[in-house]
Amino acid sequence: MDKWQPLAAALDDRRRQALYRQRKISDSPSSPKMMISGKPCLCFCSNDYLGLANHPAVIKAFKKASDHYGVGSGAAHLINGHAHAHHALEEELADFTGRQRALLFSTGYMANLGVINTLCGTGDHLYQDRLNHASLLDAGKLSGARQQRYSHLDSKNLLAKCTANTPKMIATDAVFSMDGDLAELPQLAQIAQQHDAWLMVDDAHGLGVLGHNGAGTLSHFGLDAKQAPILMGTLGKGLGTFGAFVAGDELLIEALIQQARSYIYTTAMPAAIAEATRTSLTLLQTESWRREKLQQLISNFKTGAAQLGLPLMPSDTPIQPLLIGDSAQATAVSQQLLASGILVTAIRPPTVPANSARLRITLSANHTEQQVAQLLTALERLL
Ligand SMILES: *Cc1c(COP(=O)(O)O)cnc(C)c1O
Repeated sequence: MDKWQPLAAALDDRRRQALYRQRKISDSPSSPKMMISGKPCLCFCSNDYLGLANHPAVIKAFKKASDHYGVGSGAAHLINGHAHAHHALEEELADFTGRQRALLFSTGYMANLGVINTLCGTGDHLYQDRLNHASLLDAGKLSGARQQRYSHLDSKNLLAKCTANTPKMIATDAVFSMDGDLAELPQLAQIAQQHDAWLMVDDAHGLGVLGHNGAGTLSHFGLDAKQAPILMGTLGKGLGTFGAFVAGDELLIEALIQQARSYIYTTAMPAAIAEATRTSLTLLQTESWRREKLQQLISNFKTGAAQLGLPLMPSDTPIQPLLIGDSAQATAVSQQLLASGILVTAIRPPTVPANSARLRITLSANHTEQQVAQLLTALERLL
C-alpha cells in the first residue's frame, strides 16, 4: 500500500467539497487596511477587536522590552524563562479579572489543554456546549474523560444530562467564536454549583470587549470567582498581542504550575510580549472609547444588514457572521468580496457544523463608520 495515496485522496475530497483551505499572504500589520498578496484591501475578519495589535504605545513597549530582555525567553517558566515582565503581567491580569492569581500560557489552545487535563481524568464526566472551540474539545479528548456535548446554549439539555451522570466539569466558550452569541453563564454557574462541578469559561472573545472596563463576559453577567472559578482568557484577540492566561484561586493556579503539562513542557512566551501586553491592558482599562465606538459600529452594521435583509445571526458582539450554508457559495462570495477590495474569510466545516458555512465578519474599534457602510454596499451587491 502506498502510504501517500490516502493523503492525496483526502486532499482531493476536500477540494471537491469546497473545503480546501489556503493561506493568504499579508504584508502589513493587523489593521482595517491590509496588504494581501500585494493588493490593498479592507479587512473585516481579524480578532483584534480593539485595534491594539498595531498601537504605537504597544509597539514601543515591545521594542523597549526586547532591548532589555532580548527576543527568546530561553527556557520554560519553571527553568529560567519566567521574567519579571511575565510575573508583573500575571499580577495585573489577576487584578483585572478580580481573581487571586493568574498564570500565563503560551497560547489559548495550550491553556485549555492544561486546565482540563489537570482537573479531569479517565471516567470523569465532562460536559461541553456543542459549539465549543476546538481546543476545549481536544483537551477533553486528551484527558480521557467521558465527554458529552449538550445542545448549543441549551441549559435544559445540559441539566438533563447532568441528572444522569454527575459532572466533574462544565466547559464553555463565553462568546462563541464562530457565532458571536453568549453562553447562558448564570444558568451554567448555577448548574455547576448544584453539582459541585467545575465551571470553566473560555473568554477568548469577551476579554477587553465586554464587561466593566473590558473585564470580560463574567463581569458582563456579574459573576464572581466563586460562581465561575476558572477563567481562561487569550491575549492574541482583544488585547492585541499573543498568548493566554488562566485566572482563579491560589489553589487552582498552584495545581496548574505543578501539573499542567502544556505549561511545564514548553518554552515561556518572550518577555517582550508580556511587557507589550501590560501596555495594552492599561490602554484597554483606561480608554473606554474603543468599546463605545465598537458598540456604535456593531449597531450600524446590524441596522444596515437588517435593512438589506442579509442573513444576520443573533449576535451583539463584534463577531457578526452572515450565514450562507453551502461551502462553495460561501467561498465564492468571499472571493468576490476580495475582488472588490474587501477581505472576509469564509468559515466552513469542520470549523462550523455541516451546511452552515458563513462569512465571519468581525468589527474593530479601528474601523470607521464609512468603512462599515462600504462593507454593506459590497454585500448588498453580492448577496
Ligand atoms: C482563539 C481561541 C482559542 C485559542 O487561543 P490561541 O491563543 O489562539 O491559541 C481558544 N478558545 C477560543 C474560544 C478561541 O476563539
